[in-house]
Amino acid sequence: MSKFSLKNKVTVITGGGSGIGKSIALTFAAQGAIVHVLDFDFEGAQGTVSEIEEKNGIAKAYHCDVSKQEKVFEIIEEIGQNQSINILVNNAGIAHVGSIEQVEESDLDLLYNVNIKGVYNCTKACIPFMKQDKGGVILNLASIASSVGIQDRFAYSMSKGAVLTMTLSVARDFIHQKIRCNCISPGRVHTPFVDGFISKNYPGNEEEMFEKLSKTQPIGRMGKPQEIADLALFLCSDEAAFITGCDYAIDGGFITLNN
Ligand code: NAD
Repeated sequence: MSKFSLKNKVTVITGGGSGIGKSIALTFAAQGAIVHVLDFDFEGAQGTVSEIEEKNGIAKAYHCDVSKQEKVFEIIEEIGQNQSINILVNNAGIAHVGSIEQVEESDLDLLYNVNIKGVYNCTKACIPFMKQDKGGVILNLASIASSVGIQDRFAYSMSKGAVLTMTLSVARDFIHQKIRCNCISPGRVHTPFVDGFISKNYPGNEEEMFEKLSKTQPIGRMGKPQEIADLALFLCSDEAAFITGCDYAIDGGFITLNN
């Protein structure tokens, strides 16, 4: 068997309709995973599923807002009814730009609901199935903002710091149930998420901001979704069986070389 095979591994990927999540969904399906794509944007999720099916992979799309516990539980129970749930990738997330002076209570609540409660909801829903199956893998999308101070990212950093610490907590609590839990902390990756916040926050200066954001990575560019997906593949494969409770920076040197 080839390395990094996910043959028949039932995988739930949130936010798999776009960007990093989409790339993870396509990569995992190509390695044999049965992929369940949960996304607020149902059309996006369907688009990912169509691309997987065109390559003879197996996937299904679900319309799901990860911040809504009832809906998340309903979908995960449907998936887990007839099969194991082997892998959960908590990828869905939203951005916010601003220091505490610009962050309104509604912004904080929104970032909490999607980026923190979304991870909590999906993890809580999947863990009983993983325990029943005597193991599983959970991978969370954190950020460089989880562990370093990024300018004007107050609410986003708050939420991604929590993703990192939830990762450690889950890894610790379920280590004896053979559930591994890790997170990935990307630097800037060129996805609609980045294009969206540039056009929303810097209208008229899009090109200049794109260049500036590219150069904040010492390596001189943004990451590619495929590069994140390849790390995700390794961490969710059996080749990474000895890895749990870890945060992997994938950031073109941002955290360690920006001095
Ligand atoms: P993206 O905007 O391209 O895709 C995010 C997907 O999540 C979209 O399909 C969106 O519809 C979905 N989504 C948003 N809110 C949702 C909700 N409430 N319920 C279900 N789905 C929802 O973003 P991306 O750049 O691919 O980012 C993916 C993850 O990676 C996010 O958690 C983000 O914080 C993290 N991240 C991204 C970067 C980056 O530079 N792109 C850097 C570090 C971390």
